Amino acid sequence: MAGIILLSGGLDSAVALALHLESHKLDLALTFDYGQRSGKQEIRAARLLAAYYGIAHKVIFLPFLAEQTRTALVSRDKDLPVLAESDLDDIQGQALVSAAGVWVPNRNGLFINIAAVYAENLEQPASIITGFNSEEAATFPDNSVDFISAINQSLKYSARQIITVESPTAKLTKADIVREGLRLGIPWDYIWSCYSDQSQLCGECESCRRFRRALGLNGQDNLADKIFKNMWQNKETLK
Ligand SMILES: [Zn+2]
Repeated sequence: MAGIILLSGGLDSAVALALHLESHKLDLALTFDYGQRSGKQEIRAARLLAAYYGIAHKVIFLPFLAEQTRTALVSRDKDLPVLAESDLDDIQGQALVSAAGVWVPNRNGLFINIAAVYAENLEQPASIITGFNSEEAATFPDNSVDFISAINQSLKYSARQIITVESPTAKLTKADIVREGLRLGIPWDYIWSCYSDQSQLCGECESCRRFRRALGLNGQDNLADKIFKNMWQNKETLK
């Protein structure tokens, strides 16, 4: 079966990649640049991960999406939402506010449909792999299992070939995903899971907070310290 992965270079997509490769192959990794602050870091992380796993990698530029995105994930005149760890599970309150503060219009729907264009030219049937997670599905509906079911229905009509979206991480919490990443030995120092464009993970945005908490829940405080304090800034030598 052919496969394409949507690879942002973050925790979830890196682990989804490694999980999928346990029993299937991947033909292509796609990374999207839509003007997000962390675009350079994400592209570099995805390039490193794709090379590590021996997968062809392509970056797709979507400048129109930057023009249409009003939130701080893209707009540098707005402050990125910061979240306390104690607010991560406040899905009716602070976590919902954070999600709204980084929303990108129809992002996952668009990315999957672009991947389906590439998938139609692969051997059939083909899979599109995404790194969704159950924690963020509570506030990002396009991260959910229901969304996967819905878009698979849609692809039956919009694609001529058999294309199925799968997410091996969609039912997992971030802690579950870290546990799987540890089991699979993913290269932790290649991951960029931060909304900011700083030289190292900011540690304060929702994505950083969830990643850091998940490492702690797995008893990986030392690894967390390396990831958040040391590794990324030392990777200037890794081109
Ligand atoms: Zn961050």
